[in-house]
Amino acid sequence: MNPRDLSAHTAYRAGRGIEEVARELGLDPDAMVKLSSNENMFGPSPRAVEAIRESAERMHSYPKASHADLVERLAEMWDADPEQVWLGNGGDGALDCLARAMLDPGQRVLVPDPGFAYYPMSARYHHGEVEEYTLSKAEDFAQTADAVLKDYDGERIVYLTSPHNPTGKEFTTEAVREIAERTDDETLTLVDEAYGEFTDSPSARPLLDERDDVALLRTFSKAYGLAGVRLGYALVPEAWADAYARINTPFSASELACRAGLAALSDDDHVERSVETAAWAREYIYDELDAPTWESAGNFVLAEVGDAAAVADAAQAEGVIVRDCSSFGLPECVRITCGTEEDTEQAVAVLNDAIAEVGQ
Ligand SMILES: *Cc1c(COP(=O)(O)O)cnc(C)c1O
Repeated sequence: MNPRDLSAHTAYRAGRGIEEVARELGLDPDAMVKLSSNENMFGPSPRAVEAIRESAERMHSYPKASHADLVERLAEMWDADPEQVWLGNGGDGALDCLARAMLDPGQRVLVPDPGFAYYPMSARYHHGEVEEYTLSKAEDFAQTADAVLKDYDGERIVYLTSPHNPTGKEFTTEAVREIAERTDDETLTLVDEAYGEFTDSPSARPLLDERDDVALLRTFSKAYGLAGVRLGYALVPEAWADAYARINTPFSASELACRAGLAALSDDDHVERSVETAAWAREYIYDELDAPTWESAGNFVLAEVGDAAAVADAAQAEGVIVRDCSSFGLPECVRITCGTEEDTEQAVAVLNDAIAEVGQ
């Protein structure tokens, strides 16, 4: 037998872990600086670590209380009804929930190019088809209503990323409102705010009270430092929030994830320190990297270095891992995650050598 025809699907290949890269290069993994996945430079909140230790004793039971507690806590935080919080196995899992709730077979979605690879993957898993809107490098990847609407043709879901990965650009709430307004009533405008903690710009949250065709995506993977536990959520309008119960997997977030999430939400200092350090690192990279950069609202900076694959390889051989953006369709760019002061300084020094040797 065979699975269904998956030839149009892109296979997801996770980036190699730091241990694997280190082993291959004969380097000490602890000495390597990994700035390739937009992970938190300080790791998880110590409170989340403690919560996971404590909940280890409870892992034989389903996460009934913790799931409900986390949903309630998030609802409070966003001034929403608990039903409007759709927990998922990472933000990616919440994207799946939205695709499952929205897409009939053959319906089309509109995704950004360049953009986050999981939007089209998730849509295709759910029998959807994928169209793209272009964010133009010539216009510094500006995120405007017109950039999206020029390529819009009645798609069921329009994916917006703000701040955008990998460019760091944002949509204003006004632009999101205009997109929602000028698309069909049955088109969901989904604003992915995975990096929302790192920007000074406001969330598009108010639109959920104004309209029933805008949803948000948030995650614990970035500012909260919990990428490894897989925890994220969608915030959806009240009008169709009850759909979650019909499409969700039972307990899509684990006991350990929910406990860690609750603990992380109680640690404002950890998030604040991460956000402040990212702001410092962005400025440092703009100022000190010997390559043009784009101003970013996330915990990363996109830089034009010439031959990105060669630069990323050369930097890796010196123990610094950054993201070669060829897979985003930007073979001349690397994306550098904001690290601690020490890691960021080391990364920039190594990258400057690599750019001089093999870059432009
Ligand atoms: C990291 C990221 C997410 C969510 O990732 P999860 O680890 O699944 O929560 C969503 N969108 C973008 C653009 C991201 O970069």
